[in-house]
Amino acid sequence: GKPVCECNLCYSGPDCSNFSPDCPADANDGDPYYLEEFWKKHAASSAVMVSGWHRMSYSYSFSDQYCQISEELEKHIRKVHEVVGNAITDGKYIICGAGATQLLNAAVHALSSNNPSIFPTRVVATAPYYKVYQTQTEYFESNRYRFEGEASACMNGSDTTTNIIEFVTSPSNPEGQFKRPVLSGPNVKTIYDRAYYWPNFTPIPGPADEDLSIFTISKLTGHAGSRFGWALVKDKEVYERMTEYLNENTVGISKDTQLRMLKILKVVLEDGSKEMFGFAHRIMKNRWERLRDVLAHSDRFSLQQTPAQYCTFTHGVREPTPAYAWLKCEKEEDENCSDVLRSANIIGRKGDLFNADNHYVRLSLIRTEDDFDNLINRLHKMVNTKPRVL
Ligand code: PMP
Repeated sequence: GKPVCECNLCYSGPDCSNFSPDCPADANDGDPYYLEEFWKKHAASSAVMVSGWHRMSYSYSFSDQYCQISEELEKHIRKVHEVVGNAITDGKYIICGAGATQLLNAAVHALSSNNPSIFPTRVVATAPYYKVYQTQTEYFESNRYRFEGEASACMNGSDTTTNIIEFVTSPSNPEGQFKRPVLSGPNVKTIYDRAYYWPNFTPIPGPADEDLSIFTISKLTGHAGSRFGWALVKDKEVYERMTEYLNENTVGISKDTQLRMLKILKVVLEDGSKEMFGFAHRIMKNRWERLRDVLAHSDRFSLQQTPAQYCTFTHGVREPTPAYAWLKCEKEEDENCSDVLRSANIIGRKGDLFNADNHYVRLSLIRTEDDFDNLINRLHKMVNTKPRVL
């Protein structure tokens, strides 16, 4: 007989090809499918094949037993930063992890005090912030560090004996704004999360030159499934403590992933990286135009404002095109904005998941074109429907 096809919620019919009108617009997670078409176009040049007998060792070669990352891959990472102009890599160590996610905690480990008399190091951020900083720091429950929420709460403290680690996401998730640390001083260390500092999402005003910056392939090329990120680290001791963490945790990262990343970065670097960043920027720009357009006449919903700036990569002034919309329900009574959207069959991420007010919802703009079209259609319907008078 015919194979039984289990369709998901959005499709029906014998071969799951009929789009269902009940399909919710999923704008919840940041799965970066928006570059799928680019990679389909470059299917052959970006493909890797790994035979069964290849890359079986823990290390690269017997002479280089502790090598965490192939020299060739490291060279390409430095090159992509140089071409884009978003980070200075000279004089910095590079350490790779299973996504930025693994490196966030490796960095907290490396920057927290190892002197029990001044435990625990306080880990802070400024809302709205990426919730993983909190959930991960709490989940690992180390006696060395503790998540303490808002950075500003540490501002007026005269206590300079405890160490503080401040997470700064720039451009930020969810707002897509450039952020600066709010804390400084000899006892403060900063972890810069630079996941979104690529021309896909923002003008590049100049190269980041920080003690510790974290990047990820997930948002750069969309290969979130490969689980690959890297940190640029100035200080040798911090680098060594992060390396120690990686060794204890996973003995470094997958060689298969490293091979694939090298192939992907080679395609990114073709033609001075114009094609991929051009493609990514065009898609994001188009999505922002459509989104701003659909909400232009709404006084119920507003979007974040992100100022245009000079971009040293494109040699011109351009507007940011952030990965997420930080939508606000302006009416006082819409105190659960995500429910308001849910009633229009739109799934977003509510404000309190960023330690922010629930008048806000984050909408992901980096999913597939179908997801985005569905989002726009549902928003359009919502803003053009008069509320029922009871
Ligand atoms: N930092 C930020 C600010 C992010 O938004 C994300 C992904 N959503 C990450 C880190 C994690 O990225 P990765 O996939 O590399 O673990």
